[in-house]
Amino acid sequence: ASSLSVNDLEEAIILLFYGYSKQIFINNEWHDSTSGKKFTVYNPATGDKICEVEEGDKEDVDKAVKAARKAFQLGSPWRTMDASERGRLLYKLADLIERDRLLLATMESIDGGKLFSTAYNMDLGGCLRTLRYCAGWADKVQGRTIPMDGNFFTFTRLEPIGVCGQIIPWNFPLVMFVWKIAPALCCGNTVVIKPAEETPLTAIYMGSLIKEAGFPPGVVNIVPGFGSTAGAAISHHMDIDKVSFTGSTQVGKLIKEAAGKSNLKRVTLELGGKSPNIIFADADLDSAVAFAHNGLFYHQGQCCIASSRIFVEEPIYEEFVRRSVEQAKKIVLGDPLSSCVNQGPQINKAQFHKILDLIESGKKEGAKLECGGGPWGDKGYFIQPTVFSNVTDGMRIAKEEIFGPVQQIMKFKTVDEVIERANNTHYGLAAAVFTKDLDKALTFATALQAGTVWVNCYSAVSAQCPFGGFKMSGNGRELGEYGIHEYTEVKTVTIKIPQKNS
Ligand code: ADP
Repeated sequence: ASSLSVNDLEEAIILLFYGYSKQIFINNEWHDSTSGKKFTVYNPATGDKICEVEEGDKEDVDKAVKAARKAFQLGSPWRTMDASERGRLLYKLADLIERDRLLLATMESIDGGKLFSTAYNMDLGGCLRTLRYCAGWADKVQGRTIPMDGNFFTFTRLEPIGVCGQIIPWNFPLVMFVWKIAPALCCGNTVVIKPAEETPLTAIYMGSLIKEAGFPPGVVNIVPGFGSTAGAAISHHMDIDKVSFTGSTQVGKLIKEAAGKSNLKRVTLELGGKSPNIIFADADLDSAVAFAHNGLFYHQGQCCIASSRIFVEEPIYEEFVRRSVEQAKKIVLGDPLSSCVNQGPQINKAQFHKILDLIESGKKEGAKLECGGGPWGDKGYFIQPTVFSNVTDGMRIAKEEIFGPVQQIMKFKTVDEVIERANNTHYGLAAAVFTKDLDKALTFATALQAGTVWVNCYSAVSAQCPFGGFKMSGNGRELGEYGIHEYTEVKTVTIKIPQKNS
C-alpha cells in the first residue's frame, strides 16, 4: 500500500466508477436524457473533468413524476406494503451504503472537494445513522383517537403526502440525499430527487443501491440536471405534492413562488445562515476557540450553519483573536484525499471568486486582516484560511453568507447589546453561546432567534434532533419526529355512531 499514491487511488476509483451508469434513474432503470444533452462534472481540487452525466430537463422530470405517481397509486406494491417492510428496505439500504462506504466516500471527496476522512467518517456515518433512525420510525408513525363532541368516533391517520420533489445542494451531497429520501420513504411517499449539478455522482450511484435494496420501481427517481431547468420543472410541477429544498435563500424564494404559482404544493426549505456565536469571558477559552474554529472552517466554510459571526466579550477579545489566528495558521491545504490535509478546495470557480470578493470587501471596509486573505496554490479553487478582527456589524463580511474559510470576530460589552446584534439579521438557522453561567446560557437559549441554539458546543447535529431555520433560513424542520411529520398529511376520520360512552 505504501507505493500507492493519492493519484493512483483517485484513478482506480474513477475507473471503478466508470463501471457504473451516469444516467437518469427512473422506474429502477437507467435512461439517457430526452434532449440528448449531457453535462460535465469536474474535480474542484484540480479543475480536471471527471466524467459526463446525462442532463435531465423538464421532459425527464415529467417522466420521473409519472413513474413516481404510478408507484403511489392505491393498490400499488408500495401503497400496500407493510410499514415495517418499508423500514426493512431502509435498513437494507443503510447496509448497502455501509458495504460501499469506501467507494462512496472517495467519490464524494473527488466530486465535491471534501476531505476524504470527513466524507468517510462524518458524511457516511451521518447517512447511516439518519437512514436507520428513519427506518425505525416507519412503523411508528401513528394517528390518534379523539374525544370529539357529539355521537361520533374520530381518529386521525398520518398519510403520506404523495409525490415529493426534492432538490439538494453540493456541500453535503450524500447527507442531503439521505436527509431527503429517508423520512419521505419512511412515511410511504414516492420521490423525484435532483442532486446539485456540481456533485451528482454519489446520488446517481445511490440509484443502483436503491434498486438492489428492493424498493419497487418508481418509488425513488433521480434526475441529475441544472437548477433553472430540472429544478424549476420540479418546483412548478402540477403533479408534485410537496417540494423539499436545501440551498440558497435566493432560490428558496423562487421555490415558494413556483409552488404558489402552480399547485400550492407543500414546501419545506432549509436555506442560508449567518449564525452568531457568542463567547463570554467566563467561558472555557480553549474549548470556545476550538468550537468556533471548527464551526467555521469545517468543509472549507461551506456549511449553512457556519459560525460566521463570532461575538467575543471585551476582556478576552485580544486573546481570543490571537488563539483563533494560531489555529487558522495550522491548517494544511491540499489534495482532499490525502490524510495529512485538513482543508480542500472550494466547490467551483464562481464560489471561489465570490469568496475572494468578500475578502476584498472586508479589507476595504476596514476590518483587520489577521491571516490569509487570498487564493492558494496554482490549480484548483483553494483559498487561504482567513481571519478578520475588528469587524463591525455593517460590513458585508458581517452580513452576507460567505460560504468560505473566512472568520469574522467582533467585540461586545453587554448582554442586551449582543442579543440585539446577534438577532439583527434576516437569517435564523443556528446560534451558540459559550459561558459557564447557567442563567446567561438560558437567557440566550430563549432570546436567540434560531432553529438551533448550542450552549458550550457547536455543529452538534444528529438524526434525533429537529433541524431548520427561523426567519429567512427556512420553513419546516428536517430530522427528528418533527422532520418525519413534514412528510405526512393529517386526515381526520369521523364516524357517526348511535351513542358514545366515556
Ligand atoms: P448554492 O448557492 O449553494 O449553489 P443553490 O440554491 O443555487 O445553492 O442550489 C441548490 C440547489 O438548487 C441545486 O440543486 C440547484 O441546481 C438548485 N436550483 C438552482 N436554481 C434553481 C431554480 N431556479 N429552481 C429550482 N432549483 C434550483
